[in-house]
Amino acid sequence: MRKPCLVGKDKQVVPEDVLSIELTMIESLDSQDVSCWIVDMSDWRKGWQKIAAIREHLSPKVYLRPVVYLHADNSMPAEISKAADGQLAHGLDNSKGLDELSSRFEATNQWIDHLPDPNAAVDANIAFKVLRLIASRNNVQEPVTTVRRKSGYVYPILEPLFSKRDEGALETLEFLEAQKLISGDFVSKAHFCSSCSSAFINFKEACPQCGSDDLNVDELVHHFRCAHMAVMSDFKRGSSMVCPKCDRELHHIGVDYDKPSIMYSCNHCSHGFQEPSIMTTCYNCGRSTEPENQHTRLIRAYSISAIGQNAASYGMEALFSKILDSELQLCSFDAFRDFYRVEAARIKRYKKSESSLVMIALRDIDKLYVRLGGRATEVFAELSTVFRTVLRLSDVITARNESIFFVIMTETSTTYAERAVERLHEGIIELLTNNLDFDPDMSSLIKPITVDMDLDQTLEAFLQS
Ligand SMILES: [Zn+2]
Ligand SMILES: [Zn+2]
Ligand SMILES: [Zn+2]
Repeated sequence: MRKPCLVGKDKQVVPEDVLSIELTMIESLDSQDVSCWIVDMSDWRKGWQKIAAIREHLSPKVYLRPVVYLHADNSMPAEISKAADGQLAHGLDNSKGLDELSSRFEATNQWIDHLPDPNAAVDANIAFKVLRLIASRNNVQEPVTTVRRKSGYVYPILEPLFSKRDEGALETLEFLEAQKLISGDFVSKAHFCSSCSSAFINFKEACPQCGSDDLNVDELVHHFRCAHMAVMSDFKRGSSMVCPKCDRELHHIGVDYDKPSIMYSCNHCSHGFQEPSIMTTCYNCGRSTEPENQHTRLIRAYSISAIGQNAASYGMEALFSKILDSELQLCSFDAFRDFYRVEAARIKRYKKSESSLVMIALRDIDKLYVRLGGRATEVFAELSTVFRTVLRLSDVITARNESIFFVIMTETSTTYAERAVERLHEGIIELLTNNLDFDPDMSSLIKPITVDMDLDQTLEAFLQS
């Protein structure tokens, strides 16, 4: 039975069915039992630091759990109040309120528990954490405007992840969308400073001749009777309007005169003009430039996609093994183990041939994934081709930990297997280092297949190395 957990006992009396811990105890707690984190928000700035510490934690069972505000202070900014999964308005003694929250969080908590690795504190990649937060909530993440962040827009539930830096949330979401892991619906369009990414930009009219924004603006008046056209100030005589050319008084707009446009005059260089140029100046870095040189971004509301659900559950690297699978037909680990046993027995019996077990680790697949952005699928397909070219169809291959591969090379001595691995390494280096300037961390180990070797122990030793 999961219990809500109050983080930091701020002088309250905690009822029996609520756990209570200090923030520093999160590590030691078996938080499988925790249904949500209750955070005292009567001082919201203090509470916010606790929430940031929870969301920045590396273990999914900690950072993904719902966060509930206790005694929420009305003065907190909208993006902070919306970052909560729930609110407890009437204190901890209201067990009905707690029960209701627990049942509301059941879907999210089950999602967290279904992860293959909820206990491992390994989610260091911020894009992956964003993906998992969105997938675990399974609702639409709507942007909220704010002046507290220079991006001008924030996604409340993701905010605590970015509490130590003032940018990255919009870029991370765009990256995930480019991977088709989340999908966005149009909310608005916004301008950002092209040099510092601030959303706070002053748009102003400027003199096309000297660039000054010290301008006089006047309406242009056209007198129908004599066709005279001049600025409004030339027609003003006290409270009435008199034509400076024909001296007749003007009474009704649309009857004896109209205002065809606006006239600008520059106080700096005296230039008169009708079409001012538009200049933008960033409030944050002070840089001025034409609007077309600033950055425009679509602001969207995001939800998880089907492929995103899969990547959130099994890791972004899973994309690579999926592509590889379609090229090479990876076999299951159980089938691999069976085949190994048969092959070892066959070699022992006939004493004629040699086969080799090859272990390959390509450890930076997730870094590569983030680096590649929209090109990930294409490059992973090329990488799969390298694998396919080197590993013959008769080889039996299985994937473990998404970036670790075990291969049985039948009728292949360790010397030949060595050569194959070298070719594989060269192919990978050529693709990644030469084309993408990415230096992959690849390691390998080759053993002759014998009945005396314990397969599981050998593989485990390689995984630990
Ligand atoms: Zn001027
Ligand atoms: Zn006139
Ligand atoms: Zn700027």
